Amino acid sequence: MPSDRRMFLGAGLGVTAALASRASALAASAQAVSSDGPPPPANVRLEPEIRAAAAHDFGRLVHQQPRGVLRPASSADIASLMRWAKSRAVKVAARGQGHSIYGRSLSADGVVVDMSAMNAIREIQHDRVVVDAGAVWRDLLDATLAQGLTPPVLTNYLGLSVGGTIAVGGIGATSSRHGMQTDNVIALDVVTGDGNELSCSANSNADLFDGVRAGLGQCGIVTRATLRLVRAPERIRRFQLFYRDLPSLTADQRRVLTEGRFDQLQGAILPDGSGGWRYQLDGAIPYSSGSAPDDKAVLSGLSDERGAAVIADLSYREDALAFGKFENLLRSKGLWSNPQPWLLTFLRGSNAERVAGDILAGLKGDAVGPFGRITLYPLLTKVFHTPLVRLPEEDVAFVFNLIRIPASNDAAAAQRMVAANRTLYDRIREAGGVQYPVGAFAISPGDWEVHFGSSWPQLREAKRRYDPQHLLAPGYNVF
Ligand SMILES: Cc1cc2nc3c(=O)[nH]c(=O)nc-3n(C[C@H](O)[C@H](O)[C@H](O)COP(=O)(O)OP(=O)(O)OC[C@H]3O[C@@H](n4cnc5c(N)ncnc54)[C@H](O)[C@@H]3O)c2cc1C
Repeated sequence: MPSDRRMFLGAGLGVTAALASRASALAASAQAVSSDGPPPPANVRLEPEIRAAAAHDFGRLVHQQPRGVLRPASSADIASLMRWAKSRAVKVAARGQGHSIYGRSLSADGVVVDMSAMNAIREIQHDRVVVDAGAVWRDLLDATLAQGLTPPVLTNYLGLSVGGTIAVGGIGATSSRHGMQTDNVIALDVVTGDGNELSCSANSNADLFDGVRAGLGQCGIVTRATLRLVRAPERIRRFQLFYRDLPSLTADQRRVLTEGRFDQLQGAILPDGSGGWRYQLDGAIPYSSGSAPDDKAVLSGLSDERGAAVIADLSYREDALAFGKFENLLRSKGLWSNPQPWLLTFLRGSNAERVAGDILAGLKGDAVGPFGRITLYPLLTKVFHTPLVRLPEEDVAFVFNLIRIPASNDAAAAQRMVAANRTLYDRIREAGGVQYPVGAFAISPGDWEVHFGSSWPQLREAKRRYDPQHLLAPGYNVF
């Protein structure tokens, strides 16, 4: 039989099976209704394959099947779901692109709200954009660049949703200048856990605004966001500098940070392929044609291995999308869909070299996999203002992330890395560090209370007010 025909028949069988399973799922739900109260809104999808797709996230470490999936067309759809969920005490998790690592967008036997169709980019003005929360940053950037504008902070990977990064903070290469993405939010439309549709900003429902930005989805589902825009640079000159060891890398990172030499500053420690590490500083300077940076001045006095330096010129868009090449590489090797037990933290500036060095010394060569990396770079903390974003309380903090990309699909090995993450997190916390709340390890409500520290009462109060039945974002295990 020709393969096209086989595919056609296969697809036909799939549809028939899907219709049959939807009918039986509806029947099961109708039966449940007669004994247990009102049925879910008719637009909640119950088909097994739709529920199965919402049962895992990018990390592939936690699997929890929801009882249904809502693909809302409007904020009113979400509000009526929440009113039903309230009447039945059903847990609800928003899902942007499902790129959380440890089941944060899952809802065991609850409902997942798949935001991906609520992705309209509505209105672009010279200083702001209004966008639906399911839009991905890549599409938002393309729309704003058409008018010569950009959000001031972009995550390294642009396949994340606006709502998904607002839930955690949203850090990127320009964060030392502009803070988190949550620092650049002007206003939000939210459906709260008790089913109300509210707008909030610094001047209106400010407690909700502060509870939602970096609030791990605990107080409401963001449906629409008004975000700050700035003029986009035309071009980016990128400097990749290499170092013989950790102290020389961080000494130069501290120097260029203090002197403000780069608009974008990051860095990493990478496996060198023979059991050791390579130390890399990534700096970038935006410019317009005709005013390129003076490379000699930019690099003067730095102690990198100059012969190895890589200097590249890119358009602003090419630079912003650069992570896409890495994604394609991992996909081509089958590694993108392996379990991803990442650990993301911030170290105190005053002991970052010691803590990072000690941890590095204890890591085995395969700790991050051949394509993984340890992200390490300093930030100025004074530009971060979102109340629920936690950073060490010092002028300088270091991003310290173990981007573990295992070479195999070995679930047991991945779980060992998750356990190791917890041990490392405890060490880092002991040394005054904090987690960036997207990592893969088990964490209890008590841990979250410690994590949020002086901001905990604020989050607890917002939760009490806007999601009193604790229905939202159960995957974080905060309450
Ligand atoms: C390849 C990769 C690269 C990454 N790079 C960066 C980076 O450069 N910088 C950075 O800061 N982070 C980065 N992350 C982490 C990422 O920002 C978070 O995991 C983020 O939450 C994922 O966004 P998402 O749209 O996939 O959200 P999901 O995984 O779908 O959801 C994550 C959490 O947010 C909640 N949520 C989602 N949408 C909404 C909404 N509309 N309203 C309220 N809550 C909502 C969910 O309920 C869930 O609790 C990266 C992750 C991956 C996998």
